[in-house]
Amino acid sequence: MGHDFNPRWMTEDLRIFHDAALKFFERECAPHARRWDEQGVVDREVWTRAGEAGLLCASMPEEYGGAGGDFAHEAVLIDARMKAGAGHFGISLHNGIVAPYILHYGSEEQKRRWLPRLASGELVGAIAMTEPGTGSDLQGVRTSARLDGNHYVLNGSKTFITNGQTANLIILVAKTDPAAGAKGTSLIVVETDAVDGFRRGRNLDKIGLKGQDTSELFFDDVRVPTANLLGPQPGLGFVQLMQQLPQERLIIALEALAGIEAGIAATLDYVKQRKAFGQRIMDFQNTRFTLAQAVTEMRVGRAFCDDCTERHLKGELDAATAAMAKLWLTERQCAILDDCLQLHGGYGYMNEYPIARLWADARVGKIYGGTNEIMKELIGRTL
Ligand SMILES: Cc1cc2nc3c(=O)[nH]c(=O)nc-3n(C[C@H](O)[C@H](O)[C@H](O)COP(=O)(O)OP(=O)(O)OC[C@H]3O[C@@H](n4cnc5c(N)ncnc54)[C@H](O)[C@@H]3O)c2cc1C
Repeated sequence: MGHDFNPRWMTEDLRIFHDAALKFFERECAPHARRWDEQGVVDREVWTRAGEAGLLCASMPEEYGGAGGDFAHEAVLIDARMKAGAGHFGISLHNGIVAPYILHYGSEEQKRRWLPRLASGELVGAIAMTEPGTGSDLQGVRTSARLDGNHYVLNGSKTFITNGQTANLIILVAKTDPAAGAKGTSLIVVETDAVDGFRRGRNLDKIGLKGQDTSELFFDDVRVPTANLLGPQPGLGFVQLMQQLPQERLIIALEALAGIEAGIAATLDYVKQRKAFGQRIMDFQNTRFTLAQAVTEMRVGRAFCDDCTERHLKGELDAATAAMAKLWLTERQCAILDDCLQLHGGYGYMNEYPIARLWADARVGKIYGGTNEIMKELIGRTL
């Protein structure tokens, strides 16, 4: 039952896209998932294959090499990827976070330069906000972008950057005017293959999402043309981030919902087969009650996510509602998957069972994209 995917906004076209995406992830990702977890990164070729299959930049306009879809296509991709066990493949960040910054704030020239190559997989995207000294408090970013003629000279270090070992197009959050606080923050695109002074640090050892290359990045006197600034003038970075973070939070909520659905489906399969004290685990009242509660919350989560997705498709999703979705779905995801793991007994703790990986991968949902405490701050401010 958890593998059903019937959001309110589904159309025939989206159904076909979902089928194709699910087949792609099952064929190209699922068989390699354990190996990718061990090597800490997905194979570079899968990006190019995803590009060939039309999955990269699914929601970007066709004139820039995209598939011409909208956010519903990204939502479909999230579900298909999570259900195929490819939660560690950073395509939703590439498609749903990096590419939109270029589409929304890039000049015509920038869009033509970068979007088609993001769509083909020649470029893999990342966004570098977090630094060793600052995460939640983005105003505290210290990476600097000093103007030198028609170049910016970039200095600083970033950490916890998704796709960090692979990305060759990085949207860097930097201070163009360190004295101006939030108004001195800018987004600058770094094409890493074209610069000197850029270095990748450690691919960080995590408790979950092991196949995702979450990394440190270092910038030492990296020179990029001022033409790589996103927006007509410097100083708009903070506003641009605030405008785009609701979509990032909705993506995390949708990943959480798909994780819940996948976890419940795996658990139902398991408890109907495993026996103890002469009966199926499913036949204990505790199991039925636990799963009844989980399925109820899954349905509530689906209704809320559908509502948020529909609002977002109309351009009406406000920041507080997106924060609520991220907050609630990730908290329920951790709690439900923990219950599901418990129903597996010792097998739930073994990495070969899907529930173990879903559980470990889930934990970061309460932390990244803005911690859940920051979500409560955002919601609280609107009250
Ligand atoms: C797997 C992974 C992938 C990531 N990917 C990316 C990425 O691609 N790009 C990127 O830029 N970043 C990324 N991040 C970083 C992530 O967004 C940050 O870790 C997160 O924003 C929290 O920042 P921090 O780690 O510095 O924690 P801190 O800000 O130091 O927070 C520590 C604790 O204090 C709490 N806290 C902080 N401020 C407040 C407050 N005002 N009120 C109440 N409590 C507060 C926090 O909620 C948290 O519990 C990733 C992180 C992980 C783990």
